[in-house]
Amino acid sequence: MKTIGLIGGMSWESTAHYYRVLNQETARLRGGLHSAPLLIDSVDFAPIAAMQSAGQWDVAGDALNRSAKRLASAGVEILGLATNTMHVVADRMLDGVDTQFVHIADPTVDALLADGYATVGLLGTRFTMEMSFYRDRLRARGITSLIPEVDRTNLNGIIYDELCRGIVRDESRRIYVDAIARLAARGAEAVILGCTEIGMLIDDAVSPLPVFDTTDLHAKALVSAALQ
Ligand code: GLU
Repeated sequence: MKTIGLIGGMSWESTAHYYRVLNQETARLRGGLHSAPLLIDSVDFAPIAAMQSAGQWDVAGDALNRSAKRLASAGVEILGLATNTMHVVADRMLDGVDTQFVHIADPTVDALLADGYATVGLLGTRFTMEMSFYRDRLRARGITSLIPEVDRTNLNGIIYDELCRGIVRDESRRIYVDAIARLAARGAEAVILGCTEIGMLIDDAVSPLPVFDTTDLHAKALVSAALQ
């Protein structure tokens, strides 16, 4: 099995979940005591979040490029970035890095297409919902994404002010469930949890639509790539 390199810490709450799924999936596929050969480069999220708010995407991309280069020089063979939002700087992050990269949106699209979905809701940070980088990648493979028309600021705030700090509130779960119900009323057939922390709040048991959790799908895709 190849060694996986994960750029994490954005937030560490979701990176911890990645660590669990990467190892569980490896054990499921390989059996016995197998676990994932894995290096995590976990950044301090506070300066990254400040760069996001200030629109300093190039500076953030350069910081992640240093992470990617650390992992590449340490010998990882498969690379993943454990946040949807920061895929906005994926090209800059990968500058000068030859390691095979698994983009978080790709296994999500694979799963949606396998289940026959073409119109889906997209929940994530305001950057993921409102900038074009993520929705364009979905559209390029035939997936139309709908984002909430109202409450995006609130949905975004719940990610940074609560989930990234390990705070899980029933009231916030209700706000997300309501947003999914409104997306369903507009024609969404499924919903992408396009932020690696939303799985802390939402799963198939509470969602009005079938859930596609980018954290789980991405972690499993990294294991699959490492086993090829
Ligand atoms: N983990 C989140 C995501 O998947 C949000 C935190 C960040 O902005 O990186 O987008």
